[in-house]
Amino acid sequence: MNSDIAKEALEKEKDALEKQLESVGVHNKAVPGDWITAQNTTPEEDPNLVADHTEEYDEKRATLAHLETRYNKVIAALNKIDSGNYGLCVVCQKPIEEDRLAVLPSAETCLTHKDN
Ligand SMILES: [Zn+2]
Repeated sequence: MNSDIAKEALEKEKDALEKQLESVGVHNKAVPGDWITAQNTTPEEDPNLVADHTEEYDEKRATLAHLETRYNKVIAALNKIDSGNYGLCVVCQKPIEEDRLAVLPSAETCLTHKDN
């Protein structure tokens, strides 16, 4: 796998993920790569509306956690490109299949050790 191509794909994914993260959360400037779920600041009198907002908040939090995980994997992959050990399975240290990296440039494991 040409790491320049992987880097380009990862940078693109990073930008896209940042946009999505910003739409559901607020970047925690103190911790790089950490986003806080944007809270609904308007107090609601109607208990039904409060319930709706709580559900919305939980949903946002779940989306945020999912995006954050992907984002951190992308960052980890970019760091690996910089340090020259990109594309190695974290379990067996063997090169990850090129087909797999082409589809998922932030893959951390080979096909044998993938967990999803
Ligand atoms: Zn492996």
